[in-house]
Parts: sequence; structure tokens; C-alpha cells
Amino acid sequence: MKRIAIIGGGASGMIAALAAAEAGASVVVLEHNDKPGKKLAATGNGRCNLGNSYLDADCYRGGDSAFLTEVFRNCSPEQVRGFLSKHGLSLKEKNGYFYPRSEQARSVIDFFTARLTALKVSFLTGCEVTDITFDGKCYTVSYQQKDRKASETVVADSVILATGGLAGNNLGAGPFGYEAAKCFGHSVTPLFPALVQLVTEDKHKKTLSGVRSEATVTLTCKSGGRETKKCESGEVLFTDYGISGIAVMQLSRYAGEAFLNSGSASLSIDFLPELSEAELLADMKERRVSSNGLTVEQGLTSMLQRNLLYVILLRSAVDPESHFSKLSDDKLKMLCTEMKQFKLPVMGTKDFASAQVTAGGINLCEVCPDSMESRFQKGLYITGELLDVDGTCGGYNLQFAFATGILAGLAAAGREMRS
Ligand SMILES: Cc1cc2nc3c(=O)[nH]c(=O)nc-3n(C[C@H](O)[C@H](O)[C@H](O)COP(=O)(O)OP(=O)(O)OC[C@H]3O[C@@H](n4cnc5c(N)ncnc54)[C@H](O)[C@@H]3O)c2cc1C
Repeated sequence: MKRIAIIGGGASGMIAALAAAEAGASVVVLEHNDKPGKKLAATGNGRCNLGNSYLDADCYRGGDSAFLTEVFRNCSPEQVRGFLSKHGLSLKEKNGYFYPRSEQARSVIDFFTARLTALKVSFLTGCEVTDITFDGKCYTVSYQQKDRKASETVVADSVILATGGLAGNNLGAGPFGYEAAKCFGHSVTPLFPALVQLVTEDKHKKTLSGVRSEATVTLTCKSGGRETKKCESGEVLFTDYGISGIAVMQLSRYAGEAFLNSGSASLSIDFLPELSEAELLADMKERRVSSNGLTVEQGLTSMLQRNLLYVILLRSAVDPESHFSKLSDDKLKMLCTEMKQFKLPVMGTKDFASAQVTAGGINLCEVCPDSMESRFQKGLYITGELLDVDGTCGGYNLQFAFATGILAGLAAAGREMRS
């Protein structure tokens, strides 16, 4: 019987354990938190968005996209969902986004722990894995159990490194997986937070804090003499440090990459994307005509959230209390520009503790995409966020963690993925 040690009881580790144990291997999972799946429990705001029916190259960033194509050719998102459903996880779809039917991330962890216990997978929780060595035949995994001084070991024929990235480091993330992979000859591309909030500079930050709005956000990055623009639509949320919301999170990795390369980044926010600048100007002119003694602020009320409108007026040097009917065409144009091209310099991203995923990771060309086996070290498999792949919001990171976990679990147990 193949002995497999899985380092990390997160998304990819648990599904790898299920695939390997079902294929007949003897599996031990080592997890340094007191319970497995702590990060999984926090996903999708506690609802666990674990996949998406839409898939194209833009859904993932990072290293070689050919690697991803191969991973999903070997274990497609449909096969991942089929695998979960076959083992009894009830799923539901909402606008292409997949969740457990319960919409409780907790129930996904319960699902895994019950199935793994039934398949006699050993769970060593509260165990910090500190070292992995290979003597030419077997692996020795050393770990430190909480509250015990002496280090203990597990011997295995194969090891699956499923320790995740650095994002959410309050949930158990740590650098061990990268260090262990390096000991076996792997290289790691620069790591930085992605799907993360942006720190911005604006003198009206306090007034804006708490404002929420649908918007189209354009991020301009400059680095190495190149300028790139990326655009996303969705909710933005102003905070005391800067800006958050889905549109900003989706763009954040490009800002992170620019800062990593000593570049700069800035945002331009269109709060009224449904109107062209000309349409907006015409609308504002009509409002001015019918303003009947209203102040500018009163005349424009309800177009935008109150505090946002107030800041836009201040930025355009328009006194909110002034008579709307007396506002010049130039000032109206300035207001339109502020509403449709609200500029914010980006000072940085929030750190790994706030991020949902790690950009960068173990070089994809060093791992086989059909099995997740290291090209340098037979019997060593690498899964999930440790690899140089970061998905966008929408279940893409768990989808990748699950696909790579299934492939590694089966391959380590000596089986192949069946369609
Ligand atoms: C707040 C938040 C919300 C998210 N929401 C979503 C979402 O809705 N959809 C989505 O697709 N993705 C989401 N993600 C991203 C997703 O959770 C991760 O990309 C995914 O869990 C990665 O799986 P993994 O198996 O690689 O790592 P993890 O799930 O992080 O598992 C790694 C495990 O290894 C353990 N470990 C680390 N080092 C050691 C060590 N030395 N010894 C023993 N154990 C160790 C960790 O404690 C952890 O349990 C979210 C992330 C965060 C932080």
C-alpha cells in the first residue's frame, strides 16, 4: 500500500487525501492549525464559492497559461464538481457561481472530514511540519506537535505539498511550502498579495470612508517605461485606508506587480458608466435649467451618494451651497469629469493578511500539469496556491486548488484521472 503524507489540511490537501485514500493509499494529513480547513471556512464570506461555470484565460493570472490549460484538460472544472458531487457534496449554482447547497463553507469542511475519517485517513492537527527529507527511497516528514518539545516524524513513499500561499496568514498560511520546494531544487517567482484592497491617497479620505457605489474602475500602471491599463466594473467601497470592493480587488494584482517592479499605479473611477460624458453634461444642464433656486448640492442630490457628491463638489471647487442656476458651463464640465474620471493615486496594496490569494509561486515549468509531480523530485507533488497561479474572484482559486489536489492525490496513489 502506498504511503502518502499530505502537508496542509486546506482545500487542495483535503481533496488530494480523498482522491488518494479512495484509490487505496494509506494517507496522513499534517495540519498546523487545530482543525483542518480554517481558510476554507472563511471563503466566499463564509459561503464558499468553490467554482464557476465560466472559464477563459482571463480568469487566471500568473505563470504560463498553457500549464493551466493542461491542468484543466486533465481535470476540468466539471470533473472537479463531479468528483465533489459523487462523494456527496450537494452543490448549487447562482449566475454561474457554484456554492455548497447549504451556502455554508463550514459544511464543506464537515463533508471532507466525514469522508476522510470513513476512509481511515489519519489527521495530525496542531502539527507544524518543519522539514522534509528524502533518502533515495522514502520521505521523512518532521513535525512539531503543539505543546511537545521533541520533533516527531512520519515516513512516506510520496509527499504532497499543499501548504497554500501567504494570503490570509491569520488563517494558517505560511512560507514553509516554498522553502521545502526550494530544498528540492524548485524556484519561486516573486510573491505579492492579490485580490486585495488598495491603499490610496486623497485629502477627503475621511469623508469618503463608507461610501459604496457601482462603478467602472480603470487602473493605470507604469513600470519599466511601459504603461498598461486594466478595467473592471462592479462595486467599490471607500475605506479609511483607501478603497476596496470587487472591482478594485480584481485589479489589485496589477498594482502589486507594478510596485514590485518599482513602478506606480493610479485609479480613474467612473461612477456613472451608463452615461457618456456628453449625456451626463446634457442631463446636468437640464437640471440647472429647472433648479428653481436650489443649491448645487440639492440639485444634484440622488445622482451619487451624499458624501461622494460632496467630495466631487469640493474637488471641482464648487461651493455646495451656491446657486445651481448660476453654475458656469466650465464648472458643470469639471463636475462631469470628476464623476466620470475620479482620479486616485495608489500608494500600495494591503498586505498578505488582508489578501485572498498570493500572486507568484513555484515555477510552473518545474511541475508536471497532468500529475502535479515535481520535475526535479520523484514522489513530490505540489498543489494549489503554492504554484504560480492566482485566480480572479468567482471561485477560481478553489477550483484550481481542487483540480490540482485531485490530480496529485490520484497520481501519488498510482491512479490516473478518469473522465
Ligand atoms: C478570506 C478569503 C476568502 C476567500 N474566498 C474564496 C472564494 O470564495 N473562492 C475561491 O475560489 N477562493 C477563495 N479564497 C482563496 C482560497 O481559499 C485559496 O486559494 C485556497 O484555499 C488555496 O488552497 P490550498 O490548498 O492551496 O491552501 P489552503 O487552503 O490555504 O491550505 C493550506 C493549509 O496548509 C496548512 N499549513 C501551512 N503551512 C503548514 C505547515 N508548515 N505545517 C502544517 N500545515 C501547514 C495551513 O494551515 C492550511 O490549512 C479566499 C481566501 C481568503 C483568505
